[in-house]
Amino acid sequence: MLRRIVWIIIAVPLALIVIGTGAAFSLPATRHLISGWWNVPDGLPALSDNNLVHYEPGAEEFARDVAKLLPAAVARVEAVQGRRFAQPVTLGAYATPEAYMAANGIGSMGPVGTTLFGRINLSPKLFSLQRRRLPGILTHELSHAHIQGWLARQAWTGSLTYVALPNWFKEGLAVMVSDGGGAELVSEEEARQAISRGEQIEINDAGSLFNLTEIRFARAPAQQDPAWYPTVLAYREAGLFVSYLHESDRAAFDRMMKDVLDGRTFAEAMRDAYHSDAKELWEKFKTSFART
Ligand SMILES: [Zn+2]
Repeated sequence: MLRRIVWIIIAVPLALIVIGTGAAFSLPATRHLISGWWNVPDGLPALSDNNLVHYEPGAEEFARDVAKLLPAAVARVEAVQGRRFAQPVTLGAYATPEAYMAANGIGSMGPVGTTLFGRINLSPKLFSLQRRRLPGILTHELSHAHIQGWLARQAWTGSLTYVALPNWFKEGLAVMVSDGGGAELVSEEEARQAISRGEQIEINDAGSLFNLTEIRFARAPAQQDPAWYPTVLAYREAGLFVSYLHESDRAAFDRMMKDVLDGRTFAEAMRDAYHSDAKELWEKFKTSFART
């Protein structure tokens, strides 16, 4: 028991750091993270032919689908992010909202996938109403898990290094790598128009412990309905910007990615690769599509 308590004391701050989506630095958030720590998917049964894919009883078929999609999703992340996974990623496929919410670190059914403690949790919605989104969301979450795995390998402070990466970069990269995973409901054109109207995300050089996942707006979009709209618009804008960074200078992108995975600060990685900073590059990105 004492060992478990000690683990909580160590795990909670770490959890606050490594959560993949949807939390804030607050008491309920901490409670959800503790729940996520107790309910990591590792304890669930795993597929006989792939012991990384775990499932809540009743979700075995869902898990089989995930296992089938995994090789292509892993290959895609490795190709864009420039190297193999530092370690194999454990996944959990859930059958019930209760079990998914207990494990996902946010206690909500909002996001359909989360990456927590380097593990990926997948919502039962991805095996029912939102089955179409499964390949994209799986790849999106693997993008987060890939970075977390490499940073965890650098040092025990790897989780802090992960938090220090700006959210727009982590989410934009995951959206780009997964070809729109997580941003499906807002089109690229819609996001470009929003940016042209000035409804643009805040571009910063670093993340913060007080905002683990949200991409904030420099100027909020006029449209606030439905409730998911601003979040998905932010993801799409971030995805467009990271795609621009990738396509406008592939060599610089690869160099930045390497430095990020080696644990250097984002600002340094940008400066060495692009000889510029994120804000300046965002301005260039805006003119790139304003002209077309
Ligand atoms: Zn994400």
